[in-house]
Formats: sequence, structure tokens, C-alpha cells
Amino acid sequence: MSSTDPLPGRRLLLSGGSVFDGSGSAPREADVVVADGRIAEVGTGLDGDDMVDVTGRTVLPGFTDCHVHVMISDIDIWRIQQTPFSLMFFEAARNLRLTLEAGITTVRDAAGADYGLKQAVETGLIPGPRLLNAISMLSQTGGHGDGHQISGTEAPLFRSHPGAPSGLVDGVDQARHRVRELVRARADWIKVAASGGVLSEDDLHHRQFRDDELTEIVAEAAAAGLDVMAHAHAAEGIKAAVRHGARSVEHGVYLDDEAIDLMLRHNTWLVPTLAAPLAVIARAEAQNAALPRGTAEKAREVAEVHAASFRRAVDAGVRIAMGTDAGVGTHGENLVELELMARAGMPPFEALRSATASAAELLRLDHEIGAVRPGLVADLVVLEGPLDDLCAVSDRVTTVLQAGRVVHRRAPATAAGAQ
Ligand code: ZN
Ligand code: ZN
Repeated sequence: MSSTDPLPGRRLLLSGGSVFDGSGSAPREADVVVADGRIAEVGTGLDGDDMVDVTGRTVLPGFTDCHVHVMISDIDIWRIQQTPFSLMFFEAARNLRLTLEAGITTVRDAAGADYGLKQAVETGLIPGPRLLNAISMLSQTGGHGDGHQISGTEAPLFRSHPGAPSGLVDGVDQARHRVRELVRARADWIKVAASGGVLSEDDLHHRQFRDDELTEIVAEAAAAGLDVMAHAHAAEGIKAAVRHGARSVEHGVYLDDEAIDLMLRHNTWLVPTLAAPLAVIARAEAQNAALPRGTAEKAREVAEVHAASFRRAVDAGVRIAMGTDAGVGTHGENLVELELMARAGMPPFEALRSATASAAELLRLDHEIGAVRPGLVADLVVLEGPLDDLCAVSDRVTTVLQAGRVVHRRAPATAAGAQ
């Protein structure tokens, strides 16, 4: 098996395994045939020109991570300031490869990645998942995306450059202008910081942006056919984002009953990123990173309520799509989020759905990806071990296909792979 493009019409058979179709129902035994980059057939007793034996393993839709930052490899604010500008892009190329090899075939980059990076992946210059980019995060002065330090220097997590305009914005007119700049830079999503954050020196519990600014941002995004994703921890920030029509709330840590009710009424998605505060805590405890003031304390405070808040959203029936904030955590370890969601009370097949069919729906890509169904793009992952136990999923990915090409494979561990 090579990773070169298969010949047109040639049928690749994934034989002898089970299929998790993305819908959340239990896997069932089936072969999968892939041809011309798409899923051609799903069923039993199929044949093909080439064969990958997946006996005892499960074929799933390629995973989607709805919240990553491939342009950061680290949250050490001092190291970031010392990183040469162009090195960030080479690091991003590595991060994209690690993400793809982990079985993530689509990501939404929640700030950092620009159109050039997306083109590099699309043209096959570098391996990586399909990218949907927010490019920059809109933030008010002194808000979550403002890198201004009290000393007067600037130490942003993400640098502005020709591909990524500044997201700092105040007032309605400037909001309109900033969204238009992002549209011009080929953003796929518009991201706003609707509350304070962990990796910034603002107050986590304060809402950010006034109503008129949010109205303008969402309207201008809609005029360009784009949806809005809102970083929000504070309940008031979550509610404002939902009321103004954000399609997804990121983190959503301090969900109260009213926020949950609003999300249900507006059909708003929650992208919980349970892994993010835990990654910050681990980094703070290792004491080897320069973090913004108060970051460790905030991460601990968030981690304490995050799982319970997520659980309440799950129980209430809020639509949930997997996101990790990778970049804050380690690229390639994205699927630990599945385990965290399951541990917080989401049934395992639901967690898998949130990272496949649901994520595709949030991103409006469900006509192309997110299920194992004839006609869809053959972005597929082969996993060994049981699906009702989501421990160490990253280590259980044995094969990754992207548009019908095998882009990563490793030998299954005999014990888990053979059963
Ligand atoms: Zn955020
Ligand atoms: Zn983020």
C-alpha cells in the first residue's frame, strides 16, 4: 500500500471489520469500498482491487476537531515572542501532520491559521486535515485577544500579518470593517471573544462586546455567508453570543439554566474543549512555561466546574461537537477529548458522534463528511479496541484515509487488534 493517489476507478476494500457510521448507533459488521476518493459501497461480502484487512477493528468517519490552533505549539508566552516569524509556519506544518496522523481529517482553526496554510494543505504541498479557518479572533480592547501588557509592550498569542489581520476592534463601524477584512483574507468562520479567557489577563467572568457590536459582527458575517463562533466562559457572554446568533459557543464553562435554555431555543452548538484547562494546569505545574499572570489559577477554577457544566448541557440535549483547543494542549493528542467527554457523563457512542456526524453538521459539511455512507468523501479512520471504552483512542488509530488515500498507517497492537 502506498500513499500515492490510487488509479481512477480502482476499488480499495476495507475488509472484515465493523463500521461506526457516525450516527451514534452501535457499530455493525461491514466492509467498506472506496473509489475515486469517495465511499462507494458499505455492506457485507464486498470485493475490491486492493485490500486492507481490518479484521477485528472498526472503520469510522475521519474525526473532526472543531476548535484547534495549529499556529501555536505552546502556550509559553515568552517562547512565542522569541519564535522567528517564519518558523511558526514550519511548526504549523508539523502540527497539521500530527493532527492528521491522529485521525483528525477536518479541523476548524479558531485563530492563527491563514489562507496560505489552507492552500498549502489543499494543493498537497503539506499533509494535513481539511482546514476551516477563523484566521483572527475579534476582541475588544483589553479583551481576551488583546496582547497588550501593563508594561506597554505587546505580547500577543497570535501575531497579525498580511494573511491574518488584527482582530482588535471597538465600536460598530470598526466591527464591520474588521469582519470585512477577515472576509477579504478568506476566513471560513468569524470568531469573537464574548467573554474573558484563561490565557489573557482579563476577567473570566466578564462579558465582552456590547450588543450593538455583536449585532454588527453577526450581521456582517452573515452578509458574507459566514457563521460566527464565540469564545465564552462567563454566563453573560454565552447568553449574549447565543442571543445574537452565534452558531457555536466555545468552552461554555459557566453555563447556567438560562444559558442552556437559550442554546436549546436557538439551536446553538457547544464545543466544550474539556482538554484545554487541563493542559494549562499540567503546563503550570511543570513550571517550565511563562504564562500570563493569573492563568494557572483561572485554569484550576475553570476545570473545577467545566465537567459538571458540560454534563448539564448533555443532559439537557444541547447539541455538542468535539473541540479541543489543541495548541493549548498537544497537537496529535486531540482524541483525549473523547475520553474526557465520556468521563464527564456523555455516552461513548454520543462522544464519537460529536466528533464525526455532529461536528460535520456544525461545520455545514455533512453533505461531504462525518458519516460512512456511499457518496461521501472517503475520509476514514480505522480504530482498534472497543468503541464503548474511549481510553487512549489516539494510540488505537491504525489507518487514516483522506479522500480515499491511505495517508497514515501503523501496525495494530496484536492483543487489542486481534480480538
Ligand atoms: Zn477560547
Ligand atoms: Zn481557542
